[in-house]
Amino acid sequence: MSTGIKNLVRTLDSVDFLKMDRRTFMKALGAMGAATFLGTYKSDIVSALDFAETKLVWLHGSECTGCSESVLNAGNPDLVQALQKLNVNLVFHETICAQQGIWNDGKLVNNAELNSEVLLEDTYKQGGYILVVEGSIPNGPDGSGRYLVIGNKTFKESLAEAAKNAVAIVAVGACAAYGGITSADSEVAKDTDYRGVAFAKEDPTKGMLKELGIDKPVINIPGCPAHPDWVLLTLGAVILGKIKIPNDLDTLLDNYGRPKVFYPPDHTVHDNCPRRGYYDRGELDEEVGGPGCLWKLGCKAPYAHADCGIRRWNGSVSMCTQAGGPCIACVEPNFPDGSRPLYVEAEDKGVLLGANIDTVSKVAVGAAAVAAGVHAVRRMGKGE
Ligand code: SF4
Ligand code: SF4
Repeated sequence: MSTGIKNLVRTLDSVDFLKMDRRTFMKALGAMGAATFLGTYKSDIVSALDFAETKLVWLHGSECTGCSESVLNAGNPDLVQALQKLNVNLVFHETICAQQGIWNDGKLVNNAELNSEVLLEDTYKQGGYILVVEGSIPNGPDGSGRYLVIGNKTFKESLAEAAKNAVAIVAVGACAAYGGITSADSEVAKDTDYRGVAFAKEDPTKGMLKELGIDKPVINIPGCPAHPDWVLLTLGAVILGKIKIPNDLDTLLDNYGRPKVFYPPDHTVHDNCPRRGYYDRGELDEEVGGPGCLWKLGCKAPYAHADCGIRRWNGSVSMCTQAGGPCIACVEPNFPDGSRPLYVEAEDKGVLLGANIDTVSKVAVGAAAVAAGVHAVRRMGKGE
């Protein structure tokens, strides 16, 4: 941490973070950078005891529930802490809650109190809840949405009902954000037509809400899965009123609806990779299991805008490249097609800014040239 940031942290340590006005909060956030800020204040965020109850509805579309699992693995705060301290009433979460729905003959399972149909209908009528969507929404076949039907209702219809009176909508994971794995190129992709809540494969004009005629802002927390900190800290900031919707979103989110604090537009996973020194020295592994850089094994981290290298995963213990797995840029809007083939050196990218990477490797031209190459790669990734 630089001396300037250390001083800033020291000054802000004496400030009650929760009483900061929005301007000061944003200033601190910008000045300190995501990792430092969140590392310093994360526990303060969850020490807010006196907030009015916030209702949270968490819906599942087409997905693997990996993002829920990821959130359940959260360490600091863990999910229970976050819900309790932020006074969140998790009204509905398909895989965690006890409520049941309807039999396939349309009759209610269990009594009204323990029935999700009744509960959700009441909640939607009352409004004022935060909606989290995990998983994509199939629009097919032929715009009917019938590739995903839950309780006699298409998920497309369920999303429309839920989104209408939500005060904030957060799309968690690559599938909910942009379509993710479910929308990968395949022979059936056109027919299934999987969409993200507000985007469809990078195209914000084809998100499901637009298709439904609902004009509401959405915060995207992509990742396959999303990091628990990204999810809980975003929800925490929304609940605590640190993010005002919609006014703050233009400055807080990037062009793909991601909070810049976790998905920095000017930095990639590669910038803070624990193996970065090997890359700079041109020591590129050609077989799995070595200590060197994973570029030749298909690492796509130079395209991945996320703070994984600083934040790390599993309680800050490790992350993909540290564990020997090439990054697959799971946070990007063109994932997974943009990262395919996953474990193969990116096509034509053996040549970085005119220098063949093998030559770079042999003569180790130094960090500056390689860094310039990485900028070129980033531009290529953005299609510029
Ligand atoms: S290319 Fe991948 S493994 Fe190599 S330094 Fe960059 S992020 Fe790390
Ligand atoms: S390191 Fe890459 S693949 Fe792993 S979680 Fe981060 S962005 Fe996704």
